[in-house]
Amino acid sequence: MTYLLNSPGDFAAEAVRGLVAAHGELLVEVPGGVARATQTPQGQPALVIGGGSGHYPAFAGWVGPGMGHGAPCGNVFSSPAASEVYSVVRNAENGGGVILGFGNYAGDVLHFGLAAEKLRHEGIDVRIVTVSDDIASNGPENHRDRRGVAGDLPVFKIAGAAIEAGADLDEAERVAWKANDATRSFGLAFNGCTLPGADEPLFHVDKGQMGVGLGIHGEPGVRDDRIGSAAETADLLLDQLLTEEPPRGENGYDGRVAVILNGLGTVKYEELFVVYGRIAERLEEKGLTAVRPEVGEYVTSLDMAGLSLTLVFLDDELEKLWLAPVETPAYRRGAMPDADRSPRTGVWNAAEAEIPRASQDSRVCAQSIAAVLETFQRVCADNEAELGRLDAVAGDGDHGQGMSFGSRGAARAARAAVDEGAGARTTLLLAGQAWADAAGGTSGALWGAALTSAGGAYSDTENADDRNVVDAISAGIDAVIRLGGAKPGDKTMVDAALPFRDAMEEAFETEAGPAITAAARVARDAADRTADITARLGRARVLGEKSVGTPDPGALSFSMLMTALGEHLTR
Ligand code: ADP
Ligand code: MG
Repeated sequence: MTYLLNSPGDFAAEAVRGLVAAHGELLVEVPGGVARATQTPQGQPALVIGGGSGHYPAFAGWVGPGMGHGAPCGNVFSSPAASEVYSVVRNAENGGGVILGFGNYAGDVLHFGLAAEKLRHEGIDVRIVTVSDDIASNGPENHRDRRGVAGDLPVFKIAGAAIEAGADLDEAERVAWKANDATRSFGLAFNGCTLPGADEPLFHVDKGQMGVGLGIHGEPGVRDDRIGSAAETADLLLDQLLTEEPPRGENGYDGRVAVILNGLGTVKYEELFVVYGRIAERLEEKGLTAVRPEVGEYVTSLDMAGLSLTLVFLDDELEKLWLAPVETPAYRRGAMPDADRSPRTGVWNAAEAEIPRASQDSRVCAQSIAAVLETFQRVCADNEAELGRLDAVAGDGDHGQGMSFGSRGAARAARAAVDEGAGARTTLLLAGQAWADAAGGTSGALWGAALTSAGGAYSDTENADDRNVVDAISAGIDAVIRLGGAKPGDKTMVDAALPFRDAMEEAFETEAGPAITAAARVARDAADRTADITARLGRARVLGEKSVGTPDPGALSFSMLMTALGEHLTR
């Protein structure tokens, strides 16, 4: 449990403030998280790393020369919002592009992905590297689909060192993926952790038992087992990881490994050293060389009782980068060579950001976009109760509220942008971010991404016609598929959006309104048919049999909004 706090809701933000107060030589607080106190040298790629709070030193503790350039900080165990990621990137990136690094979790994939969409439309080169080291979460053939745990440390350390050594964005991305592909972790938990202010842990492990392969937020592991001795525990962790050791003598790997024995919160350093003593012996027996091992707390889960072991199978390149100097609040080694360390010139803040200049045509188009979003707001408000009711059948009942809040946020942001003279593109980019921020939830992030990507079909300076409308909607649907990763039949809005897109493209000749109206009927039928989807595949399986007979709320709300859009454009 947490002994000291002021208020649970402010806990994560107050922890960031205190961290910055303690490390002012390295960090500044920026809207959404932290960034280096120094200016990123012109043209140097920025490494922006993040995720939920509650895992210190991941991630804000790793910002500084040789590692991260900035870290958006979400609430405890929840992804930072897209706007927070965006804001930290604006404070870290300086013409060299950015790598967004985070553990592979659905919420982070959505919110970092949405920020990436917006940044790309603004001309910033963005690469995404998802850390996926936890071997308990998927098979070796799907390594990049695994979830990320303590592998965050070596992957970000190695990528940051490559950047410090002069790598450009392509090179830094290559090295980051190479490090991720060489990293494996496995963990154990003896008991769950308690969110600040909560009375009960998030999950329990029975006394005397351990969750083998349990995730850092209590995600299910591979099995429960009796807690063994320290030596047995060391053997269990090491043997599991070594099932994935690459062949020695191939691709530059010859038995050198970076080793991280990580305490998750409650297991103390002495216990870890007892375990590590055995690991060191076993490594030697097996002819493996531990390169600069780390034993301590690196990726924690509040007060979770547990530990994890990470191995990085090194070649010369990875070894050199793993050993390079680094200077961050929580991770320091060696002496950083002198480099460009000029103080930052200021802090970027969304409230003071300038709206790009727009042509008169584009401003007129932006007016229409704001009017469409106001129509969406009305439709969502009118259907809030019904969509909530549908979502409550097999989900959490918040879809009506999410759509209502999201569309209202987007409409307000669009109207404010128009009043400040924004063009069509900028209006949609801002509206997309506002939708995601105001809605929360999966559908909020996806609708935000859709609007943002739709913005890419417009310009702030050129004229737009009905073809742009159709292209914008297609781009929005593409973004939903790209970020959400849902397949047809998973019982999501994609089941309505894909047939809609095909029908719209087919019906479109010169006028968008009638084509959208015709396609919206197809979407409505498809949404109704999602009621029949049985719980075999993808998301439908997660929803379970309970959802059979009820249409997917997201598919239905999609068809409602497209119906309203068709009517609006035809009028
Ligand atoms: P949450 O699921 O976070 O509570 P909402 O209740 O607002 O968010 O939205 C639920 C809707 O989101 C679902 O009905 C579905 O249509 C849509 N959805 C969920 N996951 C995905 C996904 N991966 N891709 C596309 N749509 C999705
Ligand atoms: Mg919901």
